[in-house]
Amino acid sequence: MLQNTPTSFSSLGLSEAILRAIHSIGFEHPTPIQSVVIPHSLQGKDVIGLAQTGSGKTAAFCIPIAERLLHSPKSISPPTGLILCPTREIALQTKTFLDLFGKHHHLTTACIIGGVKIAPQITALKKHPDIVVATPGRLMDHMEKGNVRLDKVKELVLDEADHMLDLGFLPQIENILYALPRERQTLMFSATMSPSIERLAQRFLNNPTRIDVLPEGRAAVGISHRVYMVDATNKQACLLALLTQESGSTLVFTQTKVDANWVFRTLEKAGLQVTRMHSDCTQRDREDSLLGFREGKYRIMVATGIASRGIDVPGIQHVVNFDMPDSVEEYIHRAGRTARGNAIGLVSTIATWQDKPMLRDIEKTINQEVPRCTLPGVPPYIELKNVRPFGRGRRF
Ligand code: AMP
Repeated sequence: MLQNTPTSFSSLGLSEAILRAIHSIGFEHPTPIQSVVIPHSLQGKDVIGLAQTGSGKTAAFCIPIAERLLHSPKSISPPTGLILCPTREIALQTKTFLDLFGKHHHLTTACIIGGVKIAPQITALKKHPDIVVATPGRLMDHMEKGNVRLDKVKELVLDEADHMLDLGFLPQIENILYALPRERQTLMFSATMSPSIERLAQRFLNNPTRIDVLPEGRAAVGISHRVYMVDATNKQACLLALLTQESGSTLVFTQTKVDANWVFRTLEKAGLQVTRMHSDCTQRDREDSLLGFREGKYRIMVATGIASRGIDVPGIQHVVNFDMPDSVEEYIHRAGRTARGNAIGLVSTIATWQDKPMLRDIEKTINQEVPRCTLPGVPPYIELKNVRPFGRGRRF
């Protein structure tokens, strides 16, 4: 759930032009991450922001970047701002925000992502946009072909740095950062402060201020959690029953692309309005799915965790883990797709006995016991307690 502070944007040191732009997009009060990151960033300090998606972090870095670039002498060969994102969807959403925001000023942005044609990107780069929003792989391609130079970058953002490292982007990030001037401001955002993130910060940030707005227990507020313990053979029946019981907009997660396709087809056969998103879908399909889901053409989207990284659809009421995620971080990330903005949401996890250790870890982290629930027509997994293991202590 997005929390706003009682602070006003006007007390953060922003110019009238930027305040007008913020007002025009309907933001009244800053969120906690915005109220701390914006003043630090305006002073030119490096920042490590520990925040999840849904906390308002995109605006927390876009607003001060726009402010600083607008009020510094225009470079003869921009880009002067670079935002690196883990996925195409996050990059596109960041560009959308900058464009919306940029209607009122003259900053231009190019979005450089994989999975789409390269020629229009070359044209966009030739126009010397002020800001480049990019995923690391495609940006490296352009750098290698000499389509873009980054030696004038003054403002750098590493968004969801932990996810970029999870996706194996460290070599590309290193190469890109070595091509930037040392004299710059760097804002890095991450949902975890792992040793690899510490190392990245030590190497590429300059005496950063650490700003931690992760909620206690690190799960977003406004979310109810439930678990359905079943035998593996009953997972499909459990999902169908859940989708009948909860009629709202639903995001279903599977572990693999193969399972995402299988679940998608199963739900389609059951007559549900469903779409899918995973990394084998073309960029066009991913955009169509997201748009259809956002606009209510599809009530349900089936996705893998990686593909879902950038899904910011305000109305998702229900997240279903068809498979247990393989880390607590991933659970929190998936859960964060619901209860966005000021909404409330439900996270249902379909689990088998093998998922019990992960469930315990999740409960420890979110600091609550997840209620075990059942559904009509779906046989629950019966936990056999105090049963003496076969072969031990038996007398014949
Ligand atoms: P993010 O964490 O950047 O993905 O933002 C989550 C959602 O909150 C987005 O839909 C934003 O448009 C929205 N948002 C961000 N900042 C504010 C704010 N100060 N007031 C209201 N909504 C906001």
